[in-house]
Amino acid sequence: MRIYNSLTKKVEEFVPHTEGKVGMYTCGPTVYHFAHIGNLRSYLMEDVLEKLMRFSGYEVKRVMNITDVGHLSSDADTGEDKMLKGAKREHKTVMEIAKFYTDAFFDDCRKLNIKTPDVVEPATSCIDEFIHMIEVLLEKGYAYKAGENVYFDTSKLNDYYVFGNQNEDELMVGVRDDVTEDTNKKNKNDFVLWFTKSKFEDQALKWESPWGTGYPGWHIECSCIGIKHLGEFMDIHCGGVDNMFPHHTNEIAQSESFLGHKWCKYWFHVHHLNDETGKMSKSKGEFLTVSLLEEKGYNPIAYRFFALSSHYRKPLVFSYEALDQASNAYRKLKNKIAAVTDEGDADPSVIKEYHDKFAEVVGNDLNTAMGITLIYDVLKADIPGKAKRTVIADYDTVLGLDLLKEEPADNNTGEDDELTKLVEAKIEERKNAKKDKNFELADKIRDDLLKMGIVIEDTREGVKWHKA
Ligand SMILES: [Zn+2]
Repeated sequence: MRIYNSLTKKVEEFVPHTEGKVGMYTCGPTVYHFAHIGNLRSYLMEDVLEKLMRFSGYEVKRVMNITDVGHLSSDADTGEDKMLKGAKREHKTVMEIAKFYTDAFFDDCRKLNIKTPDVVEPATSCIDEFIHMIEVLLEKGYAYKAGENVYFDTSKLNDYYVFGNQNEDELMVGVRDDVTEDTNKKNKNDFVLWFTKSKFEDQALKWESPWGTGYPGWHIECSCIGIKHLGEFMDIHCGGVDNMFPHHTNEIAQSESFLGHKWCKYWFHVHHLNDETGKMSKSKGEFLTVSLLEEKGYNPIAYRFFALSSHYRKPLVFSYEALDQASNAYRKLKNKIAAVTDEGDADPSVIKEYHDKFAEVVGNDLNTAMGITLIYDVLKADIPGKAKRTVIADYDTVLGLDLLKEEPADNNTGEDDELTKLVEAKIEERKNAKKDKNFELADKIRDDLLKMGIVIEDTREGVKWHKA
């Protein structure tokens, strides 16, 4: 497998620390609101990456944190406490908010066929580990106390800007947040490890620590949770590009200072979902969630198809028109697959050949769009139907597009609703006729439909129809 590494800014051969095994970390959601489909794009692509690694023969252990503490819009004492804001908005406690939106996040993931990571750990369950790491950083001289908080001293590092050279705008957003008058800091990029004195006096969750009652800074959770479950060497760390700075930069600073050696070898960053104006998040003023797409009649998997049709290192432009196009292409593809009969045999050597091809093509920096193209190639290939279905099922363990899942509602292309309604009413009528053992009527309905140019077929999954 080859993968673009944000650390080296190159596509590299992926070589894990222990042969055959991958320790993978994903920055989890901040659970104060529903997840935006733009954020879910990252989780989608990370899901495909994980599945591709398994497909390629690796044993994968994937870990994700849940950010359920702290004010998380920046590392300085600025911004807002998102958890507290959510709690006030909904008249709930912070922990109730965290529970509710954690569940909502995993509901969305399920709808998008995103597998739950092997380990999911909320930040609030690891406070002791955070305190331990901060103690070690203080002992080693990488941290200092000032104004009743504990800070990381970035001047102790030679290469703080590990993701240097990145988009300057992104860098500046991080820095701008950080510069706000925190006079305790020795260097402008220093960041808080532990707060006891914050402008947020009504912070709901606080813990005892050697430095007084308080709560952790933003980045410490990923370093601690990653090391706790994956050990001293992490193979690949994932997140959205907006996590690069300051979050991932600071994670590296803390972890490598704590461990005394290099920590994570590959950094995988997924780009934004934008609208046409180049900004993320809103389309015509709407907050785009999976539920909203469902309300509008979209199958969430059509969004997965849309996301997979483009490369993860390019911004993806969202519009309903684009989603409609993807939705139609997805439906047509499924119809084509549904029309493949289970005839002939599936020669294992043929299946293996196709398997290896997919691993190679998609394994070249997660080329999911080519993965989809390969399905069309399989459909056109001169191999038996049974082999085609077997190969497609194999590919779908990575793509997660429900390609062989039969959905009666997907019988048509959505273009002629009137016809669909009519045909479905006839099919229902025929079903009832058969139930009443009126086979003559059932056959007549079938013939009538055939005269209209509609072919119906009785399959294991129910009645299917298509135009003759
Ligand atoms: Zn993180």
